Amino acid sequence: MTDAVKLTCATCGQTNRVPVAKLTAGPKCGSCGDRLMTGNVAELDMRTHDKATRTDEVPLVVDYWAPWCGPCRMMAPEFAKAGKALSSNARFAKINTEDFPGVSQRLGIRGIPLLILWHKGREVARLAGARPAGEIEAFVRKAAAVRS
Ligand code: ZN
Repeated sequence: MTDAVKLTCATCGQTNRVPVAKLTAGPKCGSCGDRLMTGNVAELDMRTHDKATRTDEVPLVVDYWAPWCGPCRMMAPEFAKAGKALSSNARFAKINTEDFPGVSQRLGIRGIPLLILWHKGREVARLAGARPAGEIEAFVRKAAAVRS
């Protein structure tokens, strides 16, 4: 039985162990004090991206995007809405592939926007193209087996 899960702080990169029962109680990073489960879309850099995707034991949905990509910008508010709806079940984050092109190369990303759902160090599923909030939410619920 697991009673604690590992969560990477999107701000400082510290790995935190959070009791499952506390996930919905606004857990904070033991290192920098920032909240770990905010329901907001966290901005990742290469370091926090790599650490979180390899470590996190709460489903992590990453939006691979770039500022020049119109559909990416269109999807951003929809992605944020889905993140709010799933705030107690998953974490939502984004990474700018223009600033961190190494990420796209490594993951074989050919088109953006692309969502990848990560869980316990594994890539669970991908969703390509701009989607409305409802579709994003359904994708995450199905891939992460999250009950409503
Ligand atoms: Zn922190």
